[in-house]
Amino acid sequence: MANKIEMKVPLVEMDGDEMTRVIWGMIKDLLLKPYIDLKTEYYDLGLKKRDETEDQVTVDAANAIKKYGVGVKCATITPNADRVKEYNLKKMWKSPNGTIRAILDGTVFRAPIIVNSIKPFVKTWKKPIIIARHAYGDVYKNVEFRVGGPGKAELVFTSESGEETRQTIHEFDGKGVLMGMHNTDKSIRSFARACFTYALDQKVDLWFATKDTISKTYDHTFKDIFQEIYENEFKEKFEAANIEYFYTLIDDAVARIIRSEGGMLWACKNYDGDVMSDMVATAFGSLAMMTSVLVSPEGYYEYEAAHGTVQRHYYKHLKGEETSTNSIATLFAWTGALKKRGEIDGINELVEFASRLESAALRTIDEGVMTKDLAQLSEIEDKRIVNTEDFLKEIKLRLEESM
Ligand code: NAP
Ligand code: MG
Repeated sequence: MANKIEMKVPLVEMDGDEMTRVIWGMIKDLLLKPYIDLKTEYYDLGLKKRDETEDQVTVDAANAIKKYGVGVKCATITPNADRVKEYNLKKMWKSPNGTIRAILDGTVFRAPIIVNSIKPFVKTWKKPIIIARHAYGDVYKNVEFRVGGPGKAELVFTSESGEETRQTIHEFDGKGVLMGMHNTDKSIRSFARACFTYALDQKVDLWFATKDTISKTYDHTFKDIFQEIYENEFKEKFEAANIEYFYTLIDDAVARIIRSEGGMLWACKNYDGDVMSDMVATAFGSLAMMTSVLVSPEGYYEYEAAHGTVQRHYYKHLKGEETSTNSIATLFAWTGALKKRGEIDGINELVEFASRLESAALRTIDEGVMTKDLAQLSEIEDKRIVNTEDFLKEIKLRLEESM
């Protein structure tokens, strides 16, 4: 191509760790820079740099997303005791994703990337099911108590002005267990707004489910807040976009999802999202074909792959052994971010290029050229398993054919 596509506003680029860092560089060199005058503001979230900067680099990156609106992030190591030793860290730094999510107050949406030659385990599923998981409260911020013997458990709330409300939870006549959990209207509201906003963005129906028949105050509040925000802020926009907001009970939702064709955004409470996102990801085939986007209620977007840094492959790579690591989810993080940048800045060429690149990637797999992880799932008979770099080169071939 003679002229590279110009960008106006930079993308916030967050580099990462291990095998995905290797892939990151390859994607930029092979598939992006030759065609786009790639403008990014670069933040190195690799563990070494996070340690050097006392994790300030992660905070700076999150603030940059607030400034520019769109970011793309490589997978990063969340340190544990082993990593502290391996990298000789000053501290066991927190998960960068957690830090960024807290600063942007965002909701994470996960969606499978679908190719014709890999069939979901659920036969009826034809379109992606996007899962949104509420990332605050409930059982993840609970207080638990092991009841040692007979006694009375009470739920006590003391208001700021000192008024007390008291309810009996249970009169124990022997041992048992107790748990207290909470959520806040503020967090539920921003979760709801993020879900409605993303459903509109993707032009898909929004499903939400709780157990409000049993949990008449706790879960019912979630239901009411969603309904109120829908009616006051989104109903007209949904009708104009010809999409629906659908509320049902969680058990009914599970049954309907399995029988559906897919193609909806499923908003889940924290625990439901934990369980259902793994179920949906597995049923669609592979974690390496799953994208993830963090959307804030103000409409900031951060794109990434759902998988980690693929450590085992990286150690092979370091030893000079050949790897066959799937770069699709990382590539789609880039194309997602470029499309969004193009949409916001009115650069049609950028949106088109990103779509073309996505099609070339999917065509590569459907034509039987794939990485090892996909070979086990693909129904194609004549398969060619390629290494990490050759896979990207095969995508490049098909991209150039299409231009
Ligand atoms: P992982 O990187 O997702 O990899 C787990 C296994 O899944 C791999 O060993 C590999 O299986 C397979 N796999 C995942 N992605 C693949 C790909 N693109 N291509 C081919 N195979 C793929 O999870 P992990 O090994 O448990 O975690 C490694 C590091 O990633 C950890 O330090 C963790 O903190 C971090 N992590 C980061 C994020 C994030 O930044 N969003 C998310 C999760 C984990 P085989 O080895 O069998 O081939
Ligand atoms: Mg889980």
